Amino acid sequence: MVLPYKHEPFTDFTNEENKQAYLEGLKLVNSYLGQDYDLVIGGERVTTESKIVSVNPANKEEVIGRVSKADRDLAEKAMQVADETFKTWRKVKPEVRADILFRAAAIIRRRKDEFSALLTKEAGKPWNEADADTAEAIDFLEYYARQMLKLKDGMPVESRPGEYNRYNYIPLGVGVIISPWNFPFAIMAGTTVAAIVSGNTVLLKPASTTPVVAAKFVEVMEEAGLPTGVLNFVPGSGAEVGDYLVDHPRTRFISFTGSRDVGTRIYERASKVNPGQIWLKRVIAEMGGKDTIVVDSEGDLELAAQSIVKSAFGFSGQKCSACSRAVIVEDVYDQVLNRAVELTKELTVGDPTDPSNYMGPVIDQAAFDKVMKYVGIGKEEGRIAAGGEGDNSKGFFVQPTIVADVDPEARLMKEEIFGPVVAFAKAKDFDHALEIANNTEYGLTGAVITNNRDKIEQAREDFHVGNLYFNRGCTGAIVGYQPFGGFNMSGTDSKAGGPDYLLLHLQAKTTSETL
Ligand code: GLU
Repeated sequence: MVLPYKHEPFTDFTNEENKQAYLEGLKLVNSYLGQDYDLVIGGERVTTESKIVSVNPANKEEVIGRVSKADRDLAEKAMQVADETFKTWRKVKPEVRADILFRAAAIIRRRKDEFSALLTKEAGKPWNEADADTAEAIDFLEYYARQMLKLKDGMPVESRPGEYNRYNYIPLGVGVIISPWNFPFAIMAGTTVAAIVSGNTVLLKPASTTPVVAAKFVEVMEEAGLPTGVLNFVPGSGAEVGDYLVDHPRTRFISFTGSRDVGTRIYERASKVNPGQIWLKRVIAEMGGKDTIVVDSEGDLELAAQSIVKSAFGFSGQKCSACSRAVIVEDVYDQVLNRAVELTKELTVGDPTDPSNYMGPVIDQAAFDKVMKYVGIGKEEGRIAAGGEGDNSKGFFVQPTIVADVDPEARLMKEEIFGPVVAFAKAKDFDHALEIANNTEYGLTGAVITNNRDKIEQAREDFHVGNLYFNRGCTGAIVGYQPFGGFNMSGTDSKAGGPDYLLLHLQAKTTSETL
């Protein structure tokens, strides 16, 4: 019997035992730093000369691991294996497929501290953020396995006398999974297993900044009993391997999480029917956000300041759900801004292996440069009220930055920064605040802080985002509780961790038998 789904609880690190367990995890990860990892194609390990070198963003000198890098020939080989394996995997019972996910969840749960510690080292995640990433990976495994069990018999349809009609879901084929570095475990694992449990075979191309955690996950899936050839591991460059696989006539669908620019590029390329291709490819894309917390004059202002700061600076703002705009009704603007500045100045930035640091680094030099460029733009478009400094001498550290008094139409209010920078803008009243909240091309998350029921209902109707939160921050969606995904340029309107997510990896087949 399968127990009802419940999300994996977060670890309380004020508990000494939990703290020690995490430090043990860190020790274990330190013992294997710098190792080499292979591609996995049809269960075979393939070592290449050329490597992706994964470094610790908090300490550029430290190599986390060196991962073999696929080229076009290897990507082609992996595609052929995945295509061939689909013929058998699609016929494996959904219960058997789900069981592999349950086993993988159990393995990860046993190694939770090790995985979280690896995220701290490879992605620069502070303890609690790393722990949440690992918990979410477990959640995706547990949740999608159960969802498949619910879908396995299809949906009821009517039958007239003398006929027997059925409506079932069958898998699509080979999927290309292109996963991001900001949830290098949860989103990488979630997008991969959603495809697999639905009966598809996959080629996994993880983000080049965080390939080691993905290599470890591939090992877990093997240990859990996944047949060879179902999950093929092909790290490589987007320009070489990514484009090749997106364009490939045997690719049936692409599941991508990352930037708007890469997402739209994939969407365009995937729309082209190449020679030998006999279907229209599906694209599941989760892209950026420019997420707003709206603060009303009738709201809890302390809660507002706390929510803005936590949502803006958790994991250095490197979440597509992060709060990058605070839109505040003018009569309470100064009060909320001042309190947020006060809270921000208390935050410490540094090596995330030290749990007293609230924030770690940003992911790499390119991210550092981009964030600092926007801090510069912020100086012109507003007033730096907190932070504004960066230091990339050892790792890629940026101070949590508040830019005050920004015009709603300014670049800082429209363009995704993906770092610890939040713009504050003043609204005349609540209607105006909602208008500003909707003024970007994105529509991912948002929050409203108010105690007025009518305003909550107004926002529920008019604040156009996929994940809208009331009286809390705008990050931290939980699998199975707050299905996650946005509107407009935030993606293809999919909801990761939601009841209809697996359907995106399936197609419906009607059979009608005359009796
Ligand atoms: N699901 C995460 C959250 O709700 C964000 C995912 C992302 O940044 O890609 O905070």
